[in-house]
Amino acid sequence: MADNKTKNTMPEEECAHECTGCPSASTCAEAKSTGGLPPKADIDVKHVILVLSGKGGVGKSTVSVNLAYALANHGYHVGLLDLDMHGPNIPKMLGIEDQRFAMMGNKIEPVHVTGTLSVVSIAFVLPETSTPLIWRGPMKMVAIQQFLDDVNWGSLDYMVVDLPPGTGDEALTIAQLAPNVKGAVVVTTPQDVATLDARKSVKFVEKLGLPVLGIIENMSGMLCPHCGGEIDLFGKGGGKKIAGELGVPFLGAIPIDIEMRKAGDEGRPFILRRKGDSPSWASVDAVMESLIKEVEG
Ligand code: ADP
Repeated sequence: MADNKTKNTMPEEECAHECTGCPSASTCAEAKSTGGLPPKADIDVKHVILVLSGKGGVGKSTVSVNLAYALANHGYHVGLLDLDMHGPNIPKMLGIEDQRFAMMGNKIEPVHVTGTLSVVSIAFVLPETSTPLIWRGPMKMVAIQQFLDDVNWGSLDYMVVDLPPGTGDEALTIAQLAPNVKGAVVVTTPQDVATLDARKSVKFVEKLGLPVLGIIENMSGMLCPHCGGEIDLFGKGGGKKIAGELGVPFLGAIPIDIEMRKAGDEGRPFILRRKGDSPSWASVDAVMESLIKEVEG
């Protein structure tokens, strides 16, 4: 196994280093054969869902927030873990960016958004929202371990994990350390330049040995706020097409909606801003229901 300071080892690569502490240990054939896996975190959670994207700006955090809220609104106990450490936008999207962690005994108390939704983000320990996090991989690994082991998560039905865009260490580490990881959702926009990266995300999830729960096509067409007609801004159908080609579930499409952008900027999730029979709201709801079906059967 690789020294985690220098290299992340994917399963098919050969390596002669120590397994303990290596972020690739869960996926590395050698670690499996030597029993070198670090223990899973001792958290009471039924389903852990990872949310990934091939590139930034496609709406991954927006989906994570709305998914977590939708699940909490369905009566589930939900933890939202923001592992997009270099761009931790979840607190801003939930209007809780001024919150800081509290300690309860020797445990970190997550920030409680509602009685059933708790959030953990590196943003809660940074001095201010514009402070950049400049950490090497191993420091992020330690932080992730602490976010699992040292947080008073309580008993959760779902943990939704918002990962950074791309195929980095954070996904390897959470796949290794979190119990009951049910799989990953890949968020993409419809254009070819985005779906190309989404394909990589799907392959990455498969290399981690996790099920791909499905692809979500975000920013799929745009509804004109004036006439309600459809504008083909980023196109439509790209996410559905690659889901078909790769043989993974398609969870649905969400259009571009100004209300969705406002929701992120104003810190009040879209899912709480339901306006009558808005087609965007219905699409978010439908995506969430497909995902719950994929996870719970
Ligand atoms: P990522 O996590 O992939 O970087 P974000 O969730 O931060 O992307 O979204 C990027 C921006 O796009 C945010 O301002 C967000 O509010 C906005 N956004 C996301 N999805 C939509 C949508 N369907 N319609 C309009 N704006 C959206």
